[in-house]
Amino acid sequence: MNTEFELSTNPVISQMSSMDHDQILFCSDNATGLKAIIAIHDTTLGPALGGTRMWSYSNEIDALNDVLRLSRGMTYKNAISDLALGGGKAVIIGDSKTMKSEALFRRFGRFVDSLAGNYITAEDVGISPSDMVWVSKETNHVVGLPGKSGDPSPVTAFGTYMGMKACAKIRYGSDSLEGKKILVQGAGHVGEYLVAHLRKEGAHVLISDINENTVKRVSNTYGAIGVSLDSVYDQEMDIYAPCALGGTINDETLSKLKCGIVAGAANNQLGIEDIHGLALLNKGILYAPDFAINAGGVMNCFSEVKGLSNDWALVKSEKIYNTIHDIVSRSEKERTPSHIIAMKMAEEKINKGSKK
Ligand code: NAD
Repeated sequence: MNTEFELSTNPVISQMSSMDHDQILFCSDNATGLKAIIAIHDTTLGPALGGTRMWSYSNEIDALNDVLRLSRGMTYKNAISDLALGGGKAVIIGDSKTMKSEALFRRFGRFVDSLAGNYITAEDVGISPSDMVWVSKETNHVVGLPGKSGDPSPVTAFGTYMGMKACAKIRYGSDSLEGKKILVQGAGHVGEYLVAHLRKEGAHVLISDINENTVKRVSNTYGAIGVSLDSVYDQEMDIYAPCALGGTINDETLSKLKCGIVAGAANNQLGIEDIHGLALLNKGILYAPDFAINAGGVMNCFSEVKGLSNDWALVKSEKIYNTIHDIVSRSEKERTPSHIIAMKMAEEKINKGSKK
């Protein structure tokens, strides 16, 4: 499978086929100002589930690139987690602070409904539970509603913590994080829960966040130490945990990064997958592939789809330890970047599913 793409030079259908997407729905409605793209990557294992992101993309190509990459990531995330779900994602192009209205989300809900359950939506960046309530007035194919499975962040953080311990086991011979110096970048929903787990275990935690009040509050609450945004990649640390934005593993940061492990919850951490995944391996840094380590959130959504308890999702997310251990051990043994190993493992599960 081709993992890198250049949309400016490839027509959309060729691009879809190079990344193996099933379907893309372009949605536009002048009355409400809605401009959205829903991408269904693969439905071999079940309906495509993935959140809707609302973002002020600088152009439509960026939005399309984002939804193609994110929806494919959902296929891998769901497959490697043994969930009976395929991969999909939606993006709404626009400013989430100024463009939201009931009419816009209801129109979006009707587009989701037109896919007849092939795509199930949920919250992602820029979307709140109340937006999803509007969507749910037009379609049943939505999860993450208030009073249902709730905020997935605690489960995502717990799974990330488990994955981090598995990496420590391989790198240091013990999965104890006591005394380890760990930098959590982004102390938001997931980051704060992660800091709580790490401090409870006695890790030495550094945090960085663009919001100074968040840094003060989280460091005071848990006894973490705030570091400035521009000093993150100069820190000597055992574990770097990206929990803010994607793309933080790139040429510039790799030239500075001094750590043994990268394990965090952010999506799309590798700037350019093939280049920066290999660069981490060559630098001797263990990398827990983002879509495998941050799968706790989708496990939480799955529990809502199937009417399972919240406890089910927590128990399931504990198994992320085993998944990450398998991926990283195989990566070390085969001297192959861990994200490639994780993608292969997910594809093996999809191929098995397609033969059932
Ligand atoms: P959030 O918006 O609650 O938190 C992100 C935090 O990062 C905020 O506090 C923000 O101020 C901070 N931040 C933004 N840019 C930063 C920068 N350059 N440096 C330092 N801090 C910065 O989001 P979240 O729900 O905690 O999700 C965090 C990441 O994990 C995202 O990439 C998200 O896609 C991913 N993720 C989240 C879940 C979930 O369950 N919430 C599930 C899977 C993946």
